[in-house]
Amino acid sequence: MSHGVDLHLHSTCSDGVLAPLALVELLAACGIRLFALTDHDTLAGQAEAHAAATQLGLSCLSGIELSGRWHGRTVHIVGLGIDPSAPAIGAAIALRRQLRQARARAIAARLDRAGAPGSAAYAGLAAHDTPTRMHFARALVELGAASDVPAAFSRWLGRGKPAHVSAEWPELAATVADIVAAGGAAVLAHPLRYMLSAGQRRTLAGEFRSAGGAALEVVTGGAAPHQIETAVGLALRAGLEGSVGSDCHDPSLPWHRPGRLAKLPEAVVPVWKRWGPATLRSLEA
Ligand code: MN
Ligand code: MN
Ligand code: MN
Repeated sequence: MSHGVDLHLHSTCSDGVLAPLALVELLAACGIRLFALTDHDTLAGQAEAHAAATQLGLSCLSGIELSGRWHGRTVHIVGLGIDPSAPAIGAAIALRRQLRQARARAIAARLDRAGAPGSAAYAGLAAHDTPTRMHFARALVELGAASDVPAAFSRWLGRGKPAHVSAEWPELAATVADIVAAGGAAVLAHPLRYMLSAGQRRTLAGEFRSAGGAALEVVTGGAAPHQIETAVGLALRAGLEGSVGSDCHDPSLPWHRPGRLAKLPEAVVPVWKRWGPATLRSLEA
């Protein structure tokens, strides 16, 4: 059984399919009592998420998922309990919005050049406040250029494909520093999803800790028991706490459905213990 905690979730403010209110209603129905909405590079959904949490009696931490760069690779850092009005987080978001919109325009131009069907539709995606490659993938599926989202990546958007554009995200250490400056705890998201060797993963976790990182996302949506064990070892070795998050974008995809996460193994300190009973009241109840 889960703890009733889910600290990694997306809404329509980034690339999720549910608006914040609908997402929080689903969480309540799934038995979640503490959550964080962690849209990519935006805090736009926070006010709605907090209001819905209050209305439904759930506890809510402010959250975000920032893209960062580590030795030339993209890594994702979840920030929990940040102050949305902190200048450091405002600047981190503004920078990423620019990078995302420029990348989206470049992807649209490449899809057009590559002859993707319905290419006129793609230019509009760059106007989204937080355009992601998932938006392009869904549009490609809708326009018949791919059978599903994974196919859209393997045919058009992925590395080495005609519309692949990589983004030069800010460095991991700067990303962690911005979260810490905003009063938050930095969590290395889905640590086993990066294409890294076991040794590289240990280096990543160690450097993340040295940069001021607080926790590793030990339990993620769809993780198998042996993957959770691997993540526990990684967290303990690096001296990191643990977090749990489904990374749900679309509750119709069963492996990311909230409310089904495994418990954080007891060897790892839960990152949410950093917050007091006033924040965690629905969890203690
Ligand atoms: Mn996403
Ligand atoms: Mn991610
Ligand atoms: Mn995510």
